[in-house]
Amino acid sequence: MSKIMEKIYALFRMNILIFVLLLVTVIALFAYRNGLDDIVFLNLADYPYIIAQTDSVDGGSSAIAMERTDSSIIVDYELREGYAYPYAGVKIFLGDGKTRGKDLSRYDSIFVWVKPRGEGTVRLYMRGYDSAFYRAEDETSLKFNEIEFFPLEETYPAVFVPQEFRVASWWVAQNAINVHKARVDLSNVPLIEIQTGTNAPLGYGTLEIKGLCFKGKKIAKLDLVSILVALWFVSFLIILIIRFFDYSRERAKEKKKREELEKNLRALEIEKSEYERSSKEDPLTGCLNRAGFSSVLMREQENLSKNGRPVSFVMLDIDHFKHINDTYGHQVGDEVLVNLTKLIQGKIRNTDALVRWGGEEFVVLCGDTPIQNAQFLAEKLRIAIENTVLIKQQQVTCSFGIAEMIPDEDPKRLFERADKALYASKEGGRNRVTSATYKRTR
Ligand code: GH3
Ligand code: MG
Ligand code: MG
Repeated sequence: MSKIMEKIYALFRMNILIFVLLLVTVIALFAYRNGLDDIVFLNLADYPYIIAQTDSVDGGSSAIAMERTDSSIIVDYELREGYAYPYAGVKIFLGDGKTRGKDLSRYDSIFVWVKPRGEGTVRLYMRGYDSAFYRAEDETSLKFNEIEFFPLEETYPAVFVPQEFRVASWWVAQNAINVHKARVDLSNVPLIEIQTGTNAPLGYGTLEIKGLCFKGKKIAKLDLVSILVALWFVSFLIILIIRFFDYSRERAKEKKKREELEKNLRALEIEKSEYERSSKEDPLTGCLNRAGFSSVLMREQENLSKNGRPVSFVMLDIDHFKHINDTYGHQVGDEVLVNLTKLIQGKIRNTDALVRWGGEEFVVLCGDTPIQNAQFLAEKLRIAIENTVLIKQQQVTCSFGIAEMIPDEDPKRLFERADKALYASKEGGRNRVTSATYKRTR
């Protein structure tokens, strides 16, 4: 149960970042759609920085009177002949009214509550400051971002998007503005003008202006998308890095485990072969014991029955060994056993097997050897033992019994025959070789 919980937790842990990310994205998009609005009202009824203006500054003679009500300003005017394009309206100052205005470029829509009580269009100027061509104390150097419209009942208030503005071409011409600087720029608007349009007829008229409203989002759509994309990107990078480290950590762990296993396996193999060897070996002399002998015997039996190669058995027993033990001690007896083994090992072939049969009794199993050759070998060994100083205390001799293996004979019989021959050597006076009688059938 806890294993399943652990797995679920691991899955959750890996994907929690993605869940959180999804949640953040949905919330952000929802909030953007349904909120995060940035709305600025410019209610002219109680806005102080506003003045009436006519074409008198351009040499015209139009007249104007402005009054405030609870909810708007009422501009009564009379357009008279004088200036080529008679006009009347209001100036609304933002910021310091000169170089520091309001950034209107970040709004999506601009609402204008203006009702004319007369005919003709209304002109809206968003006057833009640009240090490149601003001349101090010369208001005409503020860029004329312009829109001119018919204020109709059904479109009240009038709504514009910034893209609908144009820069007045006469202003571009008058100020010799570089074409690249002649595009609409609402990033710094210190002055807004609302006035009668180009085709306003001469005579009396009224403008009732409630105000303006700028509506946008606290964060631009592109910014929001960029932030979200960046968030996703960084998160995936983090996930990737985490997974990479998890992966390499697991790999390292597995590698260590595998190495440990291999080490253990090698140790076991060494132990096993050591054990196998020691189980077949006599600890004192290092030659084969009876267990080790049986596998060699089997091999030789097969050699005989399948290939007809003769196998001989040379059994030897140390003469009066009890006496050596009793006289010089067990230690010296062991010395005799070890040195005798060394001597015999040096005289037999690699293919012959020396076995410690019992206490001071040994067997040499000679493959591919007829009894005559075994007899020859036994004699050679007997003489060598007799003429070698195995221990300094006294001369050591051995008695030998020899037998040749008969095909399909029970090994016990073979041992018995060899043993019998050995007994005969003992009986005959020791330090001699006796062969078991063997009638060759082939
Ligand atoms: P024989 O000539 O008739 O063979 O006389 P023997 O004294 O050699 O024969 P016996 O069987 O009477 O004595 C064998 C002795 O070998 C008895 C035993 O204490 C000794 N012996 C057997 N194994 C070991 C051994 O590993 N080390 C030592 N030091 N002596 C051993
Ligand atoms: Mg004996
Ligand atoms: Mg003996």
